[in-house]
Amino acid sequence: MARIRCSDVGKSYGSTRVISGFDLEVADHEFVVFLGPSGCGKSTILRMIAGLEEISEGTVSIDGIVVNELEPRERGVAMVFQNYALYPHMTIRDNIAFGLRRMRVPALEIDDRIAEAAELLGLEPYLERRPAELSGGQQQRAAIARAIVKTPRVFLFDEPLSNLDAKLRNHMRVEIARLHQRLRTTTIYVTHDQLEAMTLADRIVLLNAGRVEQVGRPEEIYERPTSLFVAGFIGSPAMNFIDVTVERDGAGWALASDLTTFRIGGSGFDLQPGCRAVLGVRPADLRLTTPDTKANILAGTADLIEFHGDGVLVTFAHGDREVSALVSAGNAPAARSHVRFALAEDRIHLFGADHGRTLRRRPAAEPAAIDFAGIEPAGIEPAEVETVVGLRIA
Ligand code: ADP
Repeated sequence: MARIRCSDVGKSYGSTRVISGFDLEVADHEFVVFLGPSGCGKSTILRMIAGLEEISEGTVSIDGIVVNELEPRERGVAMVFQNYALYPHMTIRDNIAFGLRRMRVPALEIDDRIAEAAELLGLEPYLERRPAELSGGQQQRAAIARAIVKTPRVFLFDEPLSNLDAKLRNHMRVEIARLHQRLRTTTIYVTHDQLEAMTLADRIVLLNAGRVEQVGRPEEIYERPTSLFVAGFIGSPAMNFIDVTVERDGAGWALASDLTTFRIGGSGFDLQPGCRAVLGVRPADLRLTTPDTKANILAGTADLIEFHGDGVLVTFAHGDREVSALVSAGNAPAARSHVRFALAEDRIHLFGADHGRTLRRRPAAEPAAIDFAGIEPAGIEPAEVETVVGLRIA
């Protein structure tokens, strides 16, 4: 079991700096997900922790020991890659055993560990097959089994489910969650898929262009995004945004868009008269309403009705912004009908138009977010994996 600490970690390729000032503490047993769009730096940070990329600046420590200069195999980490990285000419059993044999683990113990991992991952029927005779999901399970038998202090997953189809991805996601519940090994998991991040993570580290946007529990990040980027990245269908100007309105505030004015008490926000802001509201937070409701209404002509199973996504224009609202399938309006949606103050988000940061007041008791700024080469060779998963046995 292990704690990981990244202090002021930076990475440059030649004169191109891709990560700077990355700070993070991962607690023992914690499951942390690095989330963000392609190219934001997730894999590079993971690979620096694994020892597959040199750390240009700062330190990475595991259980209080700085590992910057340690070989990957000396760090006690096991990594699982997107492309499985299994040796094609070996059976699944030999693939799983390979690293242990190199570590000169006694044969009987290897057999025991393989049996245990195979049972855990439902691989018993496939141990004598070669990787090409397995489905993608089974191959990824074999790759995970190979990591598990090393009894690592830390698991590092780099987009492990990206090569699988949607159904299998869901299935494997649940398996990984169960595995973590059972083994409780400290884990860092890289993905661009917000559903994976939201469902697996104790904490999400959301990255954007080599910098940290927000760190927090999934529900915190969903409910209280601290920037426009986070608000737009998290949530599907995506949050709606409307440009507004903020003015005083008695004891409260008026938020004027091109087409309408929303009136709010505003005690939860830090607002200045005359400032430009972006009002955000999630599609599921808009309530279909009747003509007698007059205040805080977003209205328009429903020009797109999309069936989403138990809900229907209604899209209409509000000035030059498109707004979407999620309604239950039984409430679906007719196409081209006039629709009205009520906006509840406790479900809106406000961001500064110039800086993109939230205007929400931080509750007094809330600690400052752990802030760290912070970034893959493809084509990883199986041999590289073997270096990473070579472990010290505690
Ligand atoms: P992510 O995992 O979020 O998709 P990466 O960590 O792979 O992002 O990449 C982060 C940034 O670093 C990207 O701009 C990428 O082009 C750059 N990068 C990654 N590897 C190298 C490399 N070997 N040489 C130069 N730039 C690189």
